[in-house]
Amino acid sequence: MREIKAATIRRKGGPFQVENLFLDEPRADEVLVRVMAAGMCHTDMVARDQLYDVPLPVVLGHEGSGMVEQIGARVKKVAVGDHVVLTYMWCGHCKACLRGDSTYCENFYPLNFGGAREDGSTSTYAAHDASGPIRDHFFGQSSFGTFALAHERNVIKVPKNVPLELLGPLGCGIQTGAGAVMNSLKVGPGSTFVAFGGGAVGLSAVMAARVAGARTIIAADIVPSRLALALELGATHTVNSRETDPVVAVREITGGGADFSLESSGRPAVLRQAIDALAACGTCGIVGAPALGTEASFDVNGVMTAGKHIIGIVEGDSKPDLFIPALVELYAQGRFPFDKLVKFYSLDQINQAAEDSEKGITIKPIIRLGACRT
Ligand SMILES: [Zn+2]
Ligand SMILES: [Zn+2]
Repeated sequence: MREIKAATIRRKGGPFQVENLFLDEPRADEVLVRVMAAGMCHTDMVARDQLYDVPLPVVLGHEGSGMVEQIGARVKKVAVGDHVVLTYMWCGHCKACLRGDSTYCENFYPLNFGGAREDGSTSTYAAHDASGPIRDHFFGQSSFGTFALAHERNVIKVPKNVPLELLGPLGCGIQTGAGAVMNSLKVGPGSTFVAFGGGAVGLSAVMAARVAGARTIIAADIVPSRLALALELGATHTVNSRETDPVVAVREITGGGADFSLESSGRPAVLRQAIDALAACGTCGIVGAPALGTEASFDVNGVMTAGKHIIGIVEGDSKPDLFIPALVELYAQGRFPFDKLVKFYSLDQINQAAEDSEKGITIKPIIRLGACRT
């Protein structure tokens, strides 16, 4: 057991509270990571606000990067001192996992949002607390802490020639946007693509569409600074959806509709636009997460007669052991400059990071944990 410093959520809506806690030693199949930094993702806010049913009190954080501090007896994939990115968790034994579709693991929800390991156990304890355990293993990591216990499966080794503190968001938000374009939609050379929503996921999709050789790349959002950044990252056109009907604008720019669209805002009305903006036989990917139970509508004949596809996408269909190092390589080559989305905060500034992210001031906050004393 070791003492750590971590940010907990103790009640619906927060705030994050920085506390001294205790963390167990790794089990045989686990890896203890000295967290260097952890990105903050919209899903952390979804959990904080209890739009998803995450048990409290809990340590969130699911875009961790750090160094391997200690490994369990059976761990082969990484060694002490390796640089790693922590990603989502999957069970490895359900039908979807056996098929290779780990992002659609049948146990995805309990493993990533259940606040415990697969067997229901936790490994974090409050220093002085009679109110029961602290829930953890959020996305198999709970990385808003100076140390995190992950499973061998969701620890991804990365090269040491890139700044480690930058890489955490590759484990969720960035791989979601990039993977949606490259793995799920399979945007190809000469095609037309529109990203609805210019947050970290949408802008990662824009960068990926450029790498993939799309001819026309449109970003639609209501925040002018995000649209300006989209142009810098490879968008050929932007649409301010507050000023212009984005469906009309996309049809005009593409000459009839886009081959691919991606909805990352989590708003049903925007999803409708993302479907309506498609050309015949186009595909709309859904990555935005609204509250559980949210429904959306579309024009049935408009989808049927045009042969449109609508697909749900989790984590960009990423096979993280392959895809995260591939994104690191693209970054090192200067072709995937996701560092332009990032702003760093200290652990004590974590609530400011959340606020800046929700206001759209910061696209991708990263919380530095490396310098914290435990
Ligand atoms: Zn599974
Ligand atoms: Zn996330």
